[in-house]
Amino acid sequence: MKLLHEALMKIPDIGYRKAKLLYEELGLETVADCLTFYPYKYEDRSEVYDISDLSKHKHPVGTEGIIEDTKVVVTKSKKRFVALLKKAGKKVELVWFNRTEWWRKEVQTGHRYYVFGQVRKNKGKLSMTHPEIVRLGPTTVLPKGILPIYSTTKKLLEANIDNTFITKVQRMLSKKIIPFLNETLPQQQLENHALMPRKEALSYIHFSPSKKLLARARYRLKLEELIYLQTHLLQCKKNRKILSKGMTFKEASLLKKYYDHHLSFTLTNDQKKVIREICKDMRSGNQMNRLLQGDVGSGKTIVAFLSGLVPLSSGAQVALVAPTEVLAKQHQEKLKPEAAKLGLSLALLTGSTSSKERKQLLKQLSEGSLHIIVGTHALLQEDVRFTQLGLAIIDEQHRFGVVQRAKLWKKNTTFPCPHILVMTATPIPRTLAKALYGDLDVSCIKEKPAGRKPILTTHYYDRHRLVVFERMREELAKGHQVYIVYPRILSSDGEEENKDLMDGYESISRAFPKVPISILHGKMVPTSKAFEMSRFVKGETKIMVGTTILEVGINVPNATTMVIENAESFGLAQLHQLRGRVGRDEKPSYCLLLTKDTLSTKARQRINAMVRTNDGFEIAQIDLQSRGPGDILGIQQSGLYNMKLADLTKDKHIIEKAHTIAQEIIEADPFLSNPENKALKQALEHLVEKKNWSIVS
Ligand code: ADP
Ligand code: MG
Repeated sequence: MKLLHEALMKIPDIGYRKAKLLYEELGLETVADCLTFYPYKYEDRSEVYDISDLSKHKHPVGTEGIIEDTKVVVTKSKKRFVALLKKAGKKVELVWFNRTEWWRKEVQTGHRYYVFGQVRKNKGKLSMTHPEIVRLGPTTVLPKGILPIYSTTKKLLEANIDNTFITKVQRMLSKKIIPFLNETLPQQQLENHALMPRKEALSYIHFSPSKKLLARARYRLKLEELIYLQTHLLQCKKNRKILSKGMTFKEASLLKKYYDHHLSFTLTNDQKKVIREICKDMRSGNQMNRLLQGDVGSGKTIVAFLSGLVPLSSGAQVALVAPTEVLAKQHQEKLKPEAAKLGLSLALLTGSTSSKERKQLLKQLSEGSLHIIVGTHALLQEDVRFTQLGLAIIDEQHRFGVVQRAKLWKKNTTFPCPHILVMTATPIPRTLAKALYGDLDVSCIKEKPAGRKPILTTHYYDRHRLVVFERMREELAKGHQVYIVYPRILSSDGEEENKDLMDGYESISRAFPKVPISILHGKMVPTSKAFEMSRFVKGETKIMVGTTILEVGINVPNATTMVIENAESFGLAQLHQLRGRVGRDEKPSYCLLLTKDTLSTKARQRINAMVRTNDGFEIAQIDLQSRGPGDILGIQQSGLYNMKLADLTKDKHIIEKAHTIAQEIIEADPFLSNPENKALKQALEHLVEKKNWSIVS
C-alpha cells in the first residue's frame, strides 16, 4: 500500500510547513502515522439526551429545552448569570461566570436551546457550568455523531493546526485512503471472534455515528495491536526453538560435587524441580530463556547458583545481574566463598568499580580466567565480553526490561547466545506474563524452605507508636535486628504529612540512644551504601532505617522485625516485598505496619489484607483488583511495546484474547507464509522495523 506510506508533506491540503510541524510536534510523518493518530477523547454528540437522563453521563453531553428563568446572582466575590432550562417538568441550571451582562442578552427566556456540557449533580439539582449553547430555530443544524478530539500543542495551535484542522485532514484521509487498505487478520479469526473489519474500525475510530460502533472499532484496533505483539513473541519463541542453537551442557560434575559436599540445607521439592527444568533446557541444544517466579524468601539465589554450576562444569562462564549495587554486593559476598569451595573465581563489577580494576576484570573475562561475574547494569555495557558466557542470570526481573535481556544475548561474539534465566519475586498474573514475557518459559517455586514460620503482621495506628517501639526493644534485646522503612527521604513543602527518613532517623536515634543504627537510601553514594549495608550484615548496627531500596533482595537472616512507616502509602506488592526482608530463617519474625490515625475504608482494607495473608500470589491478586497490574510491576508503557491504544497494564481480557488468536494463527501457519497472512506478515515486518522490535528476536 504505497499511499499509506506517503509523506504527509506531499498531501496538498497539508503542505510542507504544516507537515514539518506535525512531524516535529507529534511525530507524524506519513499518512499511516496520521491515520493511527487516534483521538485522545471524543465528544458525544450522537444524541440529544432528555434532561432526566443527564446525570447518568460522566462526560459532557447535550440536551435541549426552553429557558424559563434567568437571573444575575451577585455574591461577595463574583457575579454569575444563571438560566433555567426546562423540559417535561425536568430542569437543569446553566451557569456562566464573567460577562454576565452579555450572557443575559444572549440567552432569552421562552426560547428553545440546545446546550452541551459537563453535568453536575448537587443535592439533587442538576447544573452545567459554561455550557456551549445554541438557540434552536427551524433550520438549525447541530453537530452530529461522536466527534473526535485530537491532542495538539501550543506550537501547532499557533500555526492554526487545531482540532478542526486535524479533523479535516483525518476526514479527507478516511475517504481517500481507508477504502484501499488491506485486512490484516485472517478471515477465519474475524468470523470466529466477531471482529469489526479493519477498514471500518479505522474509519469509525475517528468518526463514529454511535458509541457502540466506536467501542467496537477501538476493541478491534486494540486487539490488533496486541495480536501483532503476541504473534511476534510467539514467532520469536518458535523460531528460537527451531533455529537458535544453544550451547549444550551435558556435564554437571561441579553441581554434583557442590550438592553432595557443600550444600548446607535440604532443597525444597520446588527448588529441585526448577533445577531439573533448567538442566534439561541447557542439555537440550536450544537456547534457554526461562523466567523463574518465586515468592520472596523462597530461595531463588541458591537455584541460580546451582544452575550456574552446569555451564561452569564445562568450562563456560556465568554472569549474575542484580538491579542495585547493594544487591550485587550482597550476592558477591555470599557466593564468592561458595564458588571458592569449588575452585571457581568470582568478581564484582558495578558502576563504582574503579576503571583500573574494571579493565583488569574485562581482560580476565575475555581471556576466560574469571569464572563468575556478579554485577549491575554495568555488565551490559558493550565492552564487557566473555570467552564463553554459558548462562546469564537476571535477578529481580521487574526492574529489568526486555531490552536489557536482549543485550545479554549478544555477549558472545563467536559463540551462540548464552542461556538466560530471569528471576522475579513479583508473581506476575498469567495474562501479563504472557504479554510481556510471551517468549519465555516459566518455572515456579511455590514452596518455602522447611521450618519457615509465617511472618506475623500487625497494624498499629500512629497513636500507638510507643507499643511498636516496645516491640522493637524486645527483639533487639534478643540480639535480633530491625528494619524501619520510610516512604521517602525528605519531605518537601506542601506535601501531606508522611513521615520521612531524615526525621525518622533522628527520632529513632533519640528513642534508641544506645543502639547503633545504619541508614540506607537511593541518593547515597555507592560506597557509603555498601559501608552501611555491610555494617548491618555483620551485625555491627542493629537497626537499619531506609527507604524502599530495602525492598529488593536484601538478605540478613538475623533481622526479624520490619517496621513500615506510613504503610498506607505503599502498594500491597511493595509491602509484601518489604515484609519479605524478614522471616529468612527459622526465627519467628514480625512485620509492624504503622499508619496514620485515620484511614480511608479502602486503605484499611488493604492493610487488613496484609495482616490476614502471607501469600504473595494472593496479595498480587488483591493488588491487581484494586490497582491494575501496571502499578504492581512498576512497568511504564515501555517504549518497546509502543502501542497506541492497548494498555498492557489494563486490557487484561483483550490480551488474553489476542494471545488465543495469535496462537491460532501461528499454529496454522508458523512462518506466516500462507497468502491469507500476507498482510499480517507485512504489518509485522513493518512494525518490527519501525519500532525496533527486532531486538526482541
Ligand atoms: P529469594 O527467593 O527471596 O531471593 P533467597 O534466595 O535470598 O530468597 O533465600 C532466602 C534465604 O533462605 C537465604 O538465607 C537462603 O540461604 C535460605 N534458603 C534458600 N533455600 C533454602 C532451603 N531449601 N532450606 C533452608 N534455607 C534456604
Ligand atoms: Mg533474591
